[in-house]
Amino acid sequence: MKMTKPLCKTCRKYGVKLYLKGRRCETVKCPVDMRDNKKRQKSSFIRRKKMSEYGLQLMEKNKVKIYYGVLERQFRRYFENAKKKKGVTGENLLQILESRLDNTLYRVNWAYSRRMAKEMINHGGIRVNGRRMDRPGYVLKIGDIVQLHPNSKYVKSIKECIEEYKSHVVPTWVQVDNDNFTITVLREPLRDEVTLPVDEQQIVNLYSK
Ligand code: SF4
Repeated sequence: MKMTKPLCKTCRKYGVKLYLKGRRCETVKCPVDMRDNKKRQKSSFIRRKKMSEYGLQLMEKNKVKIYYGVLERQFRRYFENAKKKKGVTGENLLQILESRLDNTLYRVNWAYSRRMAKEMINHGGIRVNGRRMDRPGYVLKIGDIVQLHPNSKYVKSIKECIEEYKSHVVPTWVQVDNDNFTITVLREPLRDEVTLPVDEQQIVNLYSK
């Protein structure tokens, strides 16, 4: 999803950290963190109180789309797939989004941001099950093996990112071998492993009209 507005302004609009600058958002300079907590709660309460049901549903959908960097058509496709899956549609949707290839590279500290992960994939630096994968929105399945192309120009920056964020917890639905630049998908992510605060049922209600 191409962002034209200043990134921090977008987070402020939704009153939540959307990590649009990737790891840089974890510094104390994040304006969402810096804002007075009480003031934020009050203003977001007022905003939500005044918002229509439709407005709230739209807000939750846009928040998720922006966070994962997904366009409407693709998002809709993910939703249709989520409906077909067994289980709760909203949770399935988040599970699918969390399993995107670009998100996975970011979550295992191979990229400073989801944007950088997208770039790595678009430039052909990533293989899935031995084949070049140039679709950042590819949804990983159990048993998939993700590898970095040995001649990739991203080797250096990935090593730096891994080193810088080695204290960060890597999700347990994947097994990561940073020495051989290999990620193996062990299971699907759980709802609790999605860190974005979102009411996914609002999205389901929006699309069910
Ligand atoms: Fe800016 Fe914070 Fe949003 Fe990152 S999370 S883009 S630093 S407001």
